[in-house]
Amino acid sequence: MSRRRGYGPAMVKSPSRSVAVIGGGPAGLMAAEMLLARGHGVDIFDAKPSLGRKFLMAGKSGLNLTHGEDFETLLTRFGEGAGSLEAALRAFGPKEIQAWAQGLGTELFTGSSGRIFPKAMKASPLLRAWLSRLGGGGVRVHTRHRWTGWAEDGALVFEAPDGEVRSLPDATILATGGASWPRLGSDGAWAEILRGRGVESAPFKPANCGFLVDWSQHFRERFAGHPLKSCTLSIDDITVQGDFVVTDTGIEGGVVYTLSARLRDKVAAKGAAMLLVNLAPDRDPDRLLNALSRPRGKRSLSNFLRQATGLEGVKAGLLRERLPAKSFETPRTLAKAIQSLGILVTAPRPIEGAISTAGGLVFQDLDDGMMIKAMPGVFAAGEMLDWEAPTGGYLLTACLATGHAAGNAAGDWLDGQTT
Ligand SMILES: Cc1cc2nc3c(=O)[nH]c(=O)nc-3n(C[C@H](O)[C@H](O)[C@H](O)COP(=O)(O)OP(=O)(O)OC[C@H]3O[C@@H](n4cnc5c(N)ncnc54)[C@H](O)[C@@H]3O)c2cc1C
Repeated sequence: MSRRRGYGPAMVKSPSRSVAVIGGGPAGLMAAEMLLARGHGVDIFDAKPSLGRKFLMAGKSGLNLTHGEDFETLLTRFGEGAGSLEAALRAFGPKEIQAWAQGLGTELFTGSSGRIFPKAMKASPLLRAWLSRLGGGGVRVHTRHRWTGWAEDGALVFEAPDGEVRSLPDATILATGGASWPRLGSDGAWAEILRGRGVESAPFKPANCGFLVDWSQHFRERFAGHPLKSCTLSIDDITVQGDFVVTDTGIEGGVVYTLSARLRDKVAAKGAAMLLVNLAPDRDPDRLLNALSRPRGKRSLSNFLRQATGLEGVKAGLLRERLPAKSFETPRTLAKAIQSLGILVTAPRPIEGAISTAGGLVFQDLDDGMMIKAMPGVFAAGEMLDWEAPTGGYLLTACLATGHAAGNAAGDWLDGQTT
């Protein structure tokens, strides 16, 4: 934002064209890499004792780095944000991300669904190689430096272990993440700092999150933690197939995350949303009805259900949870419920437990190079921007793409400044 040199409390000394990157997650690290490649001095500041904590957490479930589907389909995953992200994704999309990861010695594989992972199924080797390359190139890392805003002279102000630290870089990249999993560093506090400078953000909302369902005590105690495999879930015109998990308070899991934006917005508009579960999506409806119409004889309801439909355990439990006892006596009602069972969802789980965040800095306040229009020289990237996408590698893809875009745009901007 300002190109003046600073003074006051402890100053981070920087070479003549220096950039501060605030936030050492994937977006910030990618921006740092771009600026380093252009010969600029880069200081990365992060509030936590180490960088990339959420990236490492993503690695715990295998690190779905990106997706192999065609570009046009990939673009649709970003919904309303697609137009704003398109240029960044075209410049640094799934192909470039794969080449970049391979350049850091990461072998990749494509899963049957098109999702792309490191063969190691974790993030630590990739992060280690990346930080080592950045460090070798001269990037300085300042951990335990929490950015708290700007001083009157335009210096960035940080809370650090030995007191306040200030820095007056030639340009700044903000990559401070969303507001989910705050213990990993991204707590969304940056929104208040920018609001203080007249830059508003769209409210944070949980994305790729679980939902609350008012289970009976019996069902909760008996089935919390149990996965429902190979179901379809539908809301309105969207149907997705996959697995989900019953939790103490509701439902979680990949197939729920895929529907979470629609569910969340519907709950916000109507107070609740009805999710339809097909517990036996591969069964032909007529054959299912025939099987259920055969006499039960002396068999228990559980045995009859299992033998006629294959449903047992949590699937049978969910049916009993949702269906009045008398419906089990009517084959047509029972068959219909097995393939279209309503679950009333009352609220999203709190943002702290969500995989990602919707809301954030709005694209109208940014120029094409991700620079905040009202703050020349301050760029933003990653999950702190107002876009959302389902799981499937799209989140990291957009974080890396916007980090790449912001880093390059900051480089262009610096090139265009006279000293
Ligand atoms: C459990 C889990 C699993 C996931 N799995 C996947 C997956 O497989 N595939 C995928 O695509 N995505 C996945 N994600 C999402 C992905 O990890 C995030 O979208 C991504 O890390 C966001 O990158 P970012 O650089 O924008 O922000 P972050 O990674 O959140 O990094 C922001 C950094 O900014 C720092 N910071 C924040 N505020 C300040 C401040 N005031 N001062 C200084 N530093 C600050 C933080 O400490 C943090 O290091 C997962 C997320 C979670 C929680």
